[in-house]
Amino acid sequence: MENNSIPERDRKVTWHPFTHQKEAAYPMNIVKGEGGYLFDESGNKYIDAFSSWWVNLHGHANSYIAEKIYEQAKTLEQVAFSDFTHSQAVILAERLLSHLPKNQTRIFYSDNGSTAVEVALKMAIQYHSNIGKPKRKIIAFENGYHGDTFGSMSVAERNVFNNPFTPFLFEVILIPAPIKGKEQSTLQEFHHTLKSDDVCAFIFEPLVQGAGGMVMYEPEPLEKILQLCKAHQCVTIADEVMTGFGRTGKFWATNYITTKPDIICLSKGITGGFMPLGVTSCAGFIYDAFVSDDKTKTFYHGHSYTANPLACAAANASLDLLEKYELFEHVKYISAFFEKMKKKYENHPDIIDCRSKGTIFAMELKTHEGTSYLNELGKKMGAFFLKRGIIIRPLGNILYFLPPYCITQAQLEELEKCTDEMLASFNNL
Ligand SMILES: *Cc1c(COP(=O)(O)O)cnc(C)c1O
Repeated sequence: MENNSIPERDRKVTWHPFTHQKEAAYPMNIVKGEGGYLFDESGNKYIDAFSSWWVNLHGHANSYIAEKIYEQAKTLEQVAFSDFTHSQAVILAERLLSHLPKNQTRIFYSDNGSTAVEVALKMAIQYHSNIGKPKRKIIAFENGYHGDTFGSMSVAERNVFNNPFTPFLFEVILIPAPIKGKEQSTLQEFHHTLKSDDVCAFIFEPLVQGAGGMVMYEPEPLEKILQLCKAHQCVTIADEVMTGFGRTGKFWATNYITTKPDIICLSKGITGGFMPLGVTSCAGFIYDAFVSDDKTKTFYHGHSYTANPLACAAANASLDLLEKYELFEHVKYISAFFEKMKKKYENHPDIIDCRSKGTIFAMELKTHEGTSYLNELGKKMGAFFLKRGIIIRPLGNILYFLPPYCITQAQLEELEKCTDEMLASFNNL
């Protein structure tokens, strides 16, 4: 590594997220993005097969979104969203509500996925308190992930991500997600737990547990769970931070079910991957419980950058692109391509399970270490793909693709070819 290069300087001053700093290779210096590609300083290009941590939808440096942010920056870059408002935030709220299930009536802005979840949990807890029936328990799925702040960590699986903090996390009831074969036992546990009528909220990643290894389950058991929760006045929170904006093939993953969640969390793809922004939407009955002559019923929550105009402008621009019919046609194309790949690999001897949902494809590989985020196979697969011009970020022994929607047929074929090559040399990776 050249002295004084960007990666060299980076090594001296920054601290990277989710990174084992001692063993980490020098970070790659990315100088440019264009469509589905990222470029390093030597001019090598790479397919961004994980959408830069699941945020990018329309490709890198999309000029339409870039222009809209620039126009907004020259007009109004930021204003406190307390006693003030601005058109980008209002238009975005109207547009999001027009796409969200009809029961959703209000948009609360924050900064990222974790804060969208914090807001959802606080809304649910204070809702019960405001109506004079405080409840104590929260249900979440085992193997779930909802972010890295204390509340969002609390409602996740206890694992290597949050080990040092477990004594500081509030208690939640973890129930296995209704993956194939577990539907009945999951439903029974819900029945049993909800009986006490002391369950305040249930939070879940709809249909795909992302960070937990792209674990997928069917809509039917989720439908039954939501119905049960409603029967017991347990507020349901859909964390669509990863699954929203077409990722699973429909606009929202909850569009696969008819019973609608009470609260929905959005982030990641919301701005097309340009700006950080979080959204928590809620049903009318939740909002109504906060509107009162009693000032103590106010929702005392906010962030300095709440509803930042640049982020809202980026989100409105991304929606312009998402609302085009052709885009969803292409999402369908990607979905069909991945479905075909799933069929091709599902009986491969080195693969435990192969799955796909919309624009997400995942395969769980067999190793003696077993399935784990720390499985060394992840690094090896990452290096193998990188050498062939593809950026992936496996979750341990789980390889997945989650590409920007602009990915071309030729680029998808490259992903498939590289997967073939990797499986062919699997024992020597
Ligand atoms: C990434 C993610 C979050 C956290 O979002 P951040 O913006 O990283 O804080 C929450 N929920 C789900 C389902 C996620 O995938």
